[in-house]
Amino acid sequence: KARASVASLINCSANEIIFTSGGTESINSVIDGSLYDEPRKKLVTSTVEHAAVQDFATAREITGSSVIRIRVNEKGCLDLEKLEDSLKSGVALVSIIWAHNETGILSPVQEIAELCNREGMPLHFDAVQAVGKIPVDVTEVKCDFLSISAHKFHGPKGVGALYIRDGIGWRSRQIGGGQEKSRRAGTEAVPNIIGLGKACEIAKSDMKTNTRKLIALRNEFEKAISKKFDSAVVVGRKVDRLPNTSNICFAGYEAESLIPLLDQLGICVSHGSACSSGSWGPPRVLTEMGYSDSIAKGSLRFSFSKYNEEKE
Ligand code: PLP
Repeated sequence: KARASVASLINCSANEIIFTSGGTESINSVIDGSLYDEPRKKLVTSTVEHAAVQDFATAREITGSSVIRIRVNEKGCLDLEKLEDSLKSGVALVSIIWAHNETGILSPVQEIAELCNREGMPLHFDAVQAVGKIPVDVTEVKCDFLSISAHKFHGPKGVGALYIRDGIGWRSRQIGGGQEKSRRAGTEAVPNIIGLGKACEIAKSDMKTNTRKLIALRNEFEKAISKKFDSAVVVGRKVDRLPNTSNICFAGYEAESLIPLLDQLGICVSHGSACSSGSWGPPRVLTEMGYSDSIAKGSLRFSFSKYNEEKE
């Protein structure tokens, strides 16, 4: 039942879903399996990926794979012409983030999918931040792999899923028992998987209401902040982004000083990726978008959920 619930959320068949321990495992597994069978071929990705893609790609580069990283423009959107150029030959996998974890900015997924499908290149979307928050439909946006993590939409931590398009010639590098039709060896975490299935059901039925609520909350918040702080820069204000994410740069301030003060007030925010908490430099995604170090160092990410209220 949980498998069917995940499949229903992204519009695929239940047999195209395998369960994993989370987004990182799903992503590593797709890249590893794709490069292993085609070691001379390239991995095409972007310069603003989550560490699960970025650092894994670097690790594979060290062991001899070649990686092409496409840059984003000042709006945080992938350079589609450069992507097209990179697809000419010898590509084992294209892996692109669907919704950015630090800015919420959405990639042009339909255009990316059309390009890759036209050139016959296997495509993976890291949709960890998108699934459960915005509509994700793998029949509409045709891809070969898509990574999901339960805890991004109120499911349990330590469980995720991977969509693998039926008929794709890909072999898992996780070796052991024949679980998940030999696509992910290891005993399944059944209680977590049930939690993921339930989270998918709830996300699907509540998505429209949540989106309306979150956009209203976030816009109100950004308006209030902009009124109070002249120096505040809302990242991605004019482009498509997730309803719940607000990344604001307080020019001239440093996140390192602001975060402990906000923490004392019970306000939990982050600077850069949550996975690299403790590093206070300018976040890479912002410097890639052309923000100066002095602006980017004051970047705070506020994440709203359906449990937030206007008074907060
Ligand atoms: N990809 C993105 C875009 C993420 O935001 C995250 C988690 O923050 C991951 C991958 C990794 O997912 P997990 O924490 O489930 O391993």
